[in-house]
Amino acid sequence: MARGCVLLDRDGVINHDSPDYILSAAQWRPIDGSLEAIAALNAAGLTVAVCSNQSAVGRGMLAPATLQAIHELMHQALAAVGGHLDGVFVCPHAPAADCRCRKPRPGLLQQALEQFDCAPERALMIGDSRRDLIAAERSGVEGWLVKTGNGAALADELGPATPVYPDLAAAVPAILRRLPTTHGVAP
Ligand SMILES: [Mg+2]
Ligand SMILES: [Zn+2]
Repeated sequence: MARGCVLLDRDGVINHDSPDYILSAAQWRPIDGSLEAIAALNAAGLTVAVCSNQSAVGRGMLAPATLQAIHELMHQALAAVGGHLDGVFVCPHAPAADCRCRKPRPGLLQQALEQFDCAPERALMIGDSRRDLIAAERSGVEGWLVKTGNGAALADELGPATPVYPDLAAAVPAILRRLPTTHGVAP
């Protein structure tokens, strides 16, 4: 059975965002319940991956090794609650690079779908910014908004077609209803 795939923006969905970027592991602070939410999605047999713009790398403000250290911390924090990420897809480019992977372009999401051999209809993108939702739409993936990070300001501007949840933890029951899980399936 093909697994469903949950694509998550990082900043403002998994961890608190900052207008000055997250530039060190010390600045990476998980949003309450987000790590446990990922663990619950793992337990349901869903593939979970991050699709994140990190233009601070391309702007010369964040060394790739530091970004790696931040993601090490994220993996460790997840493991401590029994969760994991199946992939972390990053666009490191500055906007001027005009790359194909920087959201709102669809390249990053397409990379993830391809790696996991997941049809867009079996995936969801969950983000806190308009560019997450646009990247989702352009990849044929349904986009949902969480009101953490930038999402609170955006929620009122969206039409009724976009599902909105207070945070990732609050979205879990709906994700489990929407995507094919292994619940109830004999091993
Ligand atoms: Mg974000
Ligand atoms: Zn890029």
